[in-house]
Amino acid sequence: MIKALTIDLWETIIKDVDATEKDRDVKRAHYIIEKLGLKSNATEQIMNFFKDLNEAFKHPSKENYWSILPENQLKKLFKEYLHISVNEKEFKDILDYYENVILEVPPKLTEEIVKEVLQKLSNVYTLVLISNTGRSPGRVLLKIMETYGVKDCFKYFVFSDEIGARKPDPVVFEIAQNLLNLPKNEIVHIGDSLNLDFLGAKNYGFNAILYANGMDVIPVEPFIRSFSELDEVLNEKFS
Ligand SMILES: [Mg+2]
Repeated sequence: MIKALTIDLWETIIKDVDATEKDRDVKRAHYIIEKLGLKSNATEQIMNFFKDLNEAFKHPSKENYWSILPENQLKKLFKEYLHISVNEKEFKDILDYYENVILEVPPKLTEEIVKEVLQKLSNVYTLVLISNTGRSPGRVLLKIMETYGVKDCFKYFVFSDEIGARKPDPVVFEIAQNLLNLPKNEIVHIGDSLNLDFLGAKNYGFNAILYANGMDVIPVEPFIRSFSELDEVLNEKFS
């Protein structure tokens, strides 16, 4: 019997609508250039860095472990892309902007129904959020979840910047399982990424459902196209 659900954040519960991460990266680049008095041609190096950062997020590995923490992301940018040293105060100000600029144009819920579904599910299952964070750390993402009234549906939060590991690393699912103190087969993970979520969870031994909202070809079973189908699929496939 299923007792708990672990759920991904980005592209599962929230997604960018009014702005993209690239828009925020442009703002980050402007801020850095202004703060440090760099020439405007530094924009290109900074945007190149963000391109490499996105690749690191898409393919998490030991080699790109540096990309887990925003402060390490910035250290790499200054050292290897801009070849500059930055004093402590400047670094602190830049880090603060870099992590919090998301609150200026925050992502939205993937579907309006998400809040209602999560609230209902939280009466039946223990919910755990499992998120690979990027430029914005878990504590900032929590503020966004709070705005949409979905934070309180979750009992535990497993953010990659706080545990130092990312999906599909089995350590992430192990931490969630330890918090829940349940056998693996009583847990279902739900997320939008085939590799990070579905296969990551299955490889560790959790059950999994792919959130395939807007996907043309769905490579695995079971899946949902909308949160409105989640309760039904849970009952059909796992009871
Ligand atoms: Mg996701």
